Amino acid sequence: MLRTASCSASLTTASPFFRHFPLSYSSLSSSTGALRAPGRNLRRVASPASPGRRVFLRRGVRVPSAAGRGVNRQLSRLYVRAVATQPAPSYPDVGQDEAEKLGFEKVSEEFISECKSKATLFKHKKTGCEVMSVSNEDENKVFGIVLRTPPKDSTGIPHILEHSVLCGSRKYPLKEPFVELLKGSLHTFLNAFTYPDRTCYPVASTNTKDFYNLVDVYLDAVFFPKCVDDVHTFQQEGWHYELNDPSEDISYKGVVFNEMKGVYSQPDNILGRIAQQANNTYGVDSGGDPKDIPNLTFEEFKDFHRKYYHPSNARIWFYGDDDPLQRLRILSEYLDMFEASPSRDTSKIEPQKLFSEPIRIVEKYPVGRDGDLKKKNMLCVNWLLSEKPLDLETQLALGFLDHLMLGTPASPLRKILLESGLGEALVSSGMSDELLQPQFSVGMKGVSEDNVQKVEELIMSTLKKLAEEGFESDAVEASMNTIEFSLRENNTGSFPRGLSLMLQSIAKWIYDMDPFEPLKYTEPLKALKARIAEEGSKAVFSPLIEQFILNNSHRVTIEMQPDPEKASQEEAEEKSILEKVKAGMTEEDLAELARATEELRLKQETPDPPEALRCVPSLNLSDIPKEPTYVPTEVGDINGVKVLRHDLFTNDIVYAEVVFDMGSLKHELLPLVPLFCQSLMEMGTKDLSFVQLNQLIGRKTGGISVYPLTSSVRGKDEPCSKIIVRGKSMAGRADDLFNLMNCLLQEVQFTDQQRFKQFVSQSIARMENRVRGSGHGVAAARMDAMLNVAGWMSEQMGGLSYLEFLRTLEKKVGEDWEGISSSLEEIRRSLLAKNGCIVNMTADGKSLTNIEKSLEKFLDLLPESPSGGLVTWDGRLPLRNEAIVIPTQVNYVGKAGNIYSTGYELDGSAYVISKHISNTWLWDRVRVSGGAYGGFCDFDSHSGVFSFLSYRDPNLLKTLDIYDGTGDFLRGLDVDQETLTKAVIGTIGDVDSYQLPDAKGYSSLMRHLLGVTDEERLRKREEILTTSLKDFKDFAKAIDVVRDNGVAVAVASAEDIDAANNARSNFFEVKKAL
Ligand SMILES: [Zn+2]
Repeated sequence: MLRTASCSASLTTASPFFRHFPLSYSSLSSSTGALRAPGRNLRRVASPASPGRRVFLRRGVRVPSAAGRGVNRQLSRLYVRAVATQPAPSYPDVGQDEAEKLGFEKVSEEFISECKSKATLFKHKKTGCEVMSVSNEDENKVFGIVLRTPPKDSTGIPHILEHSVLCGSRKYPLKEPFVELLKGSLHTFLNAFTYPDRTCYPVASTNTKDFYNLVDVYLDAVFFPKCVDDVHTFQQEGWHYELNDPSEDISYKGVVFNEMKGVYSQPDNILGRIAQQANNTYGVDSGGDPKDIPNLTFEEFKDFHRKYYHPSNARIWFYGDDDPLQRLRILSEYLDMFEASPSRDTSKIEPQKLFSEPIRIVEKYPVGRDGDLKKKNMLCVNWLLSEKPLDLETQLALGFLDHLMLGTPASPLRKILLESGLGEALVSSGMSDELLQPQFSVGMKGVSEDNVQKVEELIMSTLKKLAEEGFESDAVEASMNTIEFSLRENNTGSFPRGLSLMLQSIAKWIYDMDPFEPLKYTEPLKALKARIAEEGSKAVFSPLIEQFILNNSHRVTIEMQPDPEKASQEEAEEKSILEKVKAGMTEEDLAELARATEELRLKQETPDPPEALRCVPSLNLSDIPKEPTYVPTEVGDINGVKVLRHDLFTNDIVYAEVVFDMGSLKHELLPLVPLFCQSLMEMGTKDLSFVQLNQLIGRKTGGISVYPLTSSVRGKDEPCSKIIVRGKSMAGRADDLFNLMNCLLQEVQFTDQQRFKQFVSQSIARMENRVRGSGHGVAAARMDAMLNVAGWMSEQMGGLSYLEFLRTLEKKVGEDWEGISSSLEEIRRSLLAKNGCIVNMTADGKSLTNIEKSLEKFLDLLPESPSGGLVTWDGRLPLRNEAIVIPTQVNYVGKAGNIYSTGYELDGSAYVISKHISNTWLWDRVRVSGGAYGGFCDFDSHSGVFSFLSYRDPNLLKTLDIYDGTGDFLRGLDVDQETLTKAVIGTIGDVDSYQLPDAKGYSSLMRHLLGVTDEERLRKREEILTTSLKDFKDFAKAIDVVRDNGVAVAVASAEDIDAANNARSNFFEVKKAL
């Protein structure tokens, strides 16, 4: 099992801030769902057992590297590469002469077998800018420019600059070239992120012309941005005083300001921030503390760009199958314009000296007034592991150790902490090595006051015990297999492989170390494996625990206490500061501020002139393939069960999904399904404890997961509601894979009351986190549950209703465990059956044939039919406008309606139009002038639900008004052919998203389940390609239904909800959540 839960929180501090909310990673359905990876379009309940829960999703927007995907930092660096066994292929070479002519010298060159790539390090002679040029067969080309940007304070300069440089540049003098690229390119990745000490600007595309367009826009943005001459961008992205009318109160606005208010509304983030006790750059917040952001001046901002955004301080990465000489040509054009600067020295990161004594910090964090506050403490212990960077083998060993201690539910440190019952869930736990000095932390949340000390003692005593006793050999073998499997699979999901490699390389390169080293893991891994084999695992791992953790005096213990006053205190402080500001202004000042506010707003709302828009290079419709990508699919039958086979090259790995139907499940059992799934994975059988079972899965497979999935099906009343068992293994171990799946499904016993109790409290902690961090998802689920049955089912298993169910269930586990246990059995009986089962398999043809026998045996063991008759699903939440109260500084605002109810019939143009609404109307109004971090819309073509959502939004009713204006925006729209073409190309880019083979097979299964045929995909594609202005106008009528009959749900602070209900006579029914 590749669970990543153990290390998610620890990444907070090392995680960068994304420039824009990466919608593609959200759990929301995509506006192009029917056509592209349909998995995105389905509601997938966040069950701990599901592997595909991308880190992106959980960590919301503060998500970084592909590295986060893996077992942990160290291992994940291994995670994303394939083991090469072939001889080095030859790639086009850049000769020394050619490089010299362009102003570069070749520093070193290596063939890296781990990623089957030739990598060359160049140095730009004049400026010293370093360039890694990686050539291979990967069509998903990646470019990235990385600058070392250590901040001195928490005003958020690096972060605000990261947002701002993409707001217009010398060659591209328009408001946001970035958004034009979002609209009209075929990018497979487009974003920017700020780390604590560096800023990365990566792009990716499979289309070479498109790729070079993206590269040029990014290079121009980084080196020649308009924002250093234009205070308006700084105000918009950073902060400014807003005053609409001199009689009103002044408020703060700014995209980063509100983004960071959202970050600081989450206790896990606050904890991560405090854990950085350092007197170097890591002691301050590169993202910006909302309290400090308003101290930042435009002068300081400009100065920071001048100092650090210079080729001498830049590292540039190219990766893929394009011409390496062309890369240098593009770069020399930019780099030659600069002279050398001292920025490479001035940006150096000073290491933090290790403390000679442990320290302890007690801090308060904001909570709501409800619930048992006594039980809401957090305790976390953090170590800075070393003053000097570690060698690769030690780093690998520490990563391995991390996986052994925390990587799976069976890992001892994790298991002992959770089983202690001292807290609800782990927090901030795992190794992290993306910064100069590696760290390790482990902690718990949901801890009662009396237990805080005990958690700390248990952490220390368990670590001591692990050092003394070592790890079981089965556990070591399971971890090793998990790592090696990931290496072979090299599965970075929707994240480009080349970007994942870049982030690994840069983690050393940025500190002036060897950029090649992190890419070459085979030898150190072999050495580590040999040492374990010779000396035993204890001899390898015990000294590490002792040296780096137990005997390390740089220990920072953090205790976090809930404080129901804190949110309102902070609000009051901000208010009083703003009142003072206003009191200090003369009437003229106020009039001037109101005028400046209006001026900024006007500027934001004025569209770019067509000439400016034309600067941004774009593709033509003729560059776009006319046909969708088809996944080879053969539909067959084994013993009466439908089997889909996808013959694709998978590097000898088999991917299998077994799908069961929920059609016989009793309604009242629905909210138990996620816990049923977790129980299958984590309860054990008569003969095997859950630890043994998990180790077996780790040793024999690449992971198994079980999770529910629901969606509407277009044109049908009955939703699609399934349980999916998903697994992967080497082709030679398919028999083990199916045996283990069978064991989980049929033999696991639902008898462990204590473990079940833990599952419930972990789920509560996770759901509470979700409500705070992904309130837009909670709001969307709520609206969907009012509007259709599939939405209702999903909300029961993953929304606010689920949280309420869990809170009741927590009491019931003690009182009626028998009843719960037999309900779990009943769920199993109503699901497990050949009848209604579908199997999906992805592998090469030979493997597909070879595994048939194992599959047959598996299917033979299934009962013929489910117990219980067919049920009809027809639940809905009552239609109403709802406000969900949480302690927060920023809101999430949604509104939705079903456009099929107006008689609208699905046309491909709907995808183009909804993307256009998101990227223009909502981006400009909700984000740019509204100050929210994100505003977007989403169209679920299966159900017909069209929803508007905002993310970390300072407004509430104002945002709803913007949504309501969408129909008029479309009616008044005047787009020229170029804009239209851009919108069409961007939509096709979504539809044709790059997929690795397992994702192709999975998408095909989803389409099969939802009845989307290849003929329909082709038809929709044609409709997309021929979208006209008339389609936009016609769509206005359909979308008016959201304004006229839609439901609004906001997840917001009590103050803002009160204000909204006062302003609009009790518009919202109020519901408390936290
Ligand atoms: Zn940001």
